[in-house]
Amino acid sequence: MDTQQIVLASRPVGSPTIDNFSFESIALPPLQPDEVLLEGLYYSVDPYMRGRMNDTKSYVPPFQLDQPMLGGVIAKVIESKSPDLNHGDIVFGMLPWRVQTVTSAKGLSKIDDSNVPISYHLDVLGMTGMTAYFGLMDIGKPKVGETVVVSGAAGAVGLVVGQIAKIHGCRVVGITGSDEKVKLLKEKYAFDEAINYKTTGDLKTTISRSCPEGVDIYYDNVGGEISDAVISNINFHARIPLCGQISLYNSTEVPVGPRLQPMLLTRSVLMQGFIVINYQSRFPEAISHLAKWVQEGKIKFDQTIIPGFDQLPSAFLGLFKGNNIGKMIVKA
Ligand code: NAP
Repeated sequence: MDTQQIVLASRPVGSPTIDNFSFESIALPPLQPDEVLLEGLYYSVDPYMRGRMNDTKSYVPPFQLDQPMLGGVIAKVIESKSPDLNHGDIVFGMLPWRVQTVTSAKGLSKIDDSNVPISYHLDVLGMTGMTAYFGLMDIGKPKVGETVVVSGAAGAVGLVVGQIAKIHGCRVVGITGSDEKVKLLKEKYAFDEAINYKTTGDLKTTISRSCPEGVDIYYDNVGGEISDAVISNINFHARIPLCGQISLYNSTEVPVGPRLQPMLLTRSVLMQGFIVINYQSRFPEAISHLAKWVQEGKIKFDQTIIPGFDQLPSAFLGLFKGNNIGKMIVKA
């Protein structure tokens, strides 16, 4: 049987383009024992994939040239030679960008599709929701009355961070890239303040006005000049969960900014990087809290769902242009 796949055709220099991807037809091998034939339903596109397009050592191996891109996929079992999965089951796995694929049943997790729409498992009940939870709760340690600033605030991680901070009684300020997103953060998500970093002239001053008592937790999703401006307003004993640096993922040179260490030192600030997979043994804890908050209506969210398998590359590129509100997902 033939299927279509999307491969990494070339490694980007600077911002990725559509030419870095190509489409191919391939023949799928016959099913072996313990394998399943899957059809992709929802594909996650994520900023970290940009790092995997480089041929550099990181916490995940680079994508290989002329090999399919890989990511989080929710798929339906079409045929099974595994005792653990049956035709019609819905599973999540880290899978190639293929319309259909043959893979071992090991490493796939079965999804209960009876309670919430299955795309939630790529979002608030999946990797991005858990990233928000562990970064904020484990490193940020929010306390009632503290001021939390989150960058990338209208994205998949940012929206959940802001709402968990509100649940814990914090004052929440979001930084985002459009007036539409600012309005959404304030009106739908009840953020106390939201700032459009693209139109605010002096971000450092705007943040100090929005945070009259300083910043106790800065949840950093973007890095670069936005983070420099937030950190210049940081309080004594503040915490900075270092989650993402999307503003630097397409840099071709090592960027140089203000030397922040003296401020972190003299204000006894904790800045800690983390990768969600570090918390794998505690995933059930995060999911139980997130599922409860979703059920209680305390966590709402948006998803930007782009129809069409062939839209995967452009949906991915859209993350770097701010085309998404909430989680960017491609629906086959
Ligand atoms: P996302 O926020 O849903 O999507 C990316 C958003 O980043 C865009 O919508 C855009 O929003 C913003 N952006 C793009 N280029 C920017 C720039 N140059 N400067 C400032 N903002 C920019 O993505 P996500 O999945 O929730 O991920 C958010 C961050 O967390 C990313 O840095 C990602 O790598 C990181 N992350 C880390 C982990 C971990 O384990 N540590 C796990 C998941 C995600 P605007 O319109 O606001 O510009």
